[in-house]
Amino acid sequence: MERYRRLIDLPQVGEEGLSLLSKKRALVVGAGGLGTPAAAYLVASGTGHVTIVDGDVVELSNLSRQVMYSIEDLGKAKAGVLGRKLALLNPEVVVEGLNIKIDPGDLGAVLQLVSSHDVVLSCVDNAPLRYALNQACVEREVPLVDGAVRGFTGVLTVVVPGTGPCYECAFPQSKAGKVAGGPPIWSPLPGVVGALQASEALKLMLGTGNAGAGKILLIDLLTGAFRRVSAERNPSCRVCATLRSNNIRGSR
Ligand SMILES: [Zn+2]
Repeated sequence: MERYRRLIDLPQVGEEGLSLLSKKRALVVGAGGLGTPAAAYLVASGTGHVTIVDGDVVELSNLSRQVMYSIEDLGKAKAGVLGRKLALLNPEVVVEGLNIKIDPGDLGAVLQLVSSHDVVLSCVDNAPLRYALNQACVEREVPLVDGAVRGFTGVLTVVVPGTGPCYECAFPQSKAGKVAGGPPIWSPLPGVVGALQASEALKLMLGTGNAGAGKILLIDLLTGAFRRVSAERNPSCRVCATLRSNNIRGSR
């Protein structure tokens, strides 16, 4: 309890909240700038099981913002390195590091990964995987917290299937893919957005606060402005509209 004393002193958490959290499973997809702080706060807060998935290795160009890694980690699988470090941060949490490159086209594999978790954090740097995670989360009714960063600008999107728009409703699928070498990124930006992802995910698991479903937070670290905008459900959304009507048919 000493470890969590400052956390459980919050009336929104308490010992009951901590006990609840210890039974939850979170999936962090991507162990880069967003995934490292997000996973670290989930583990530090006592989430029961944290799965980290990433198929990349640590590269020198990561170290300007992915502060959990050091030069001795260069060339090693990110998921393994981060998993080992976070297991030392909090041995009470089961931290599973999976060195897997997810194929966004293999929806079955994405569904399988998502379905055994209570919340999914999309910390990825490519659009196809972002949309595949949204589709899988809507289908399995697992809340999704998506983070995206570029330049000085971050976007945080929370999807709670059944209660608001999905990612596809808010951002209809574009052809945008992965930028070769990655876009420019202000070093502290993914730290800010990744920590916000962890915060939203923790609230979703605890069932406390306003998890901001259907709200999109726009972050501009150049001006220091945070702005929250609303997204609407698209009744003809390719992902959530069809799945919902399928579910209704299936339940009859
Ligand atoms: Zn939708």
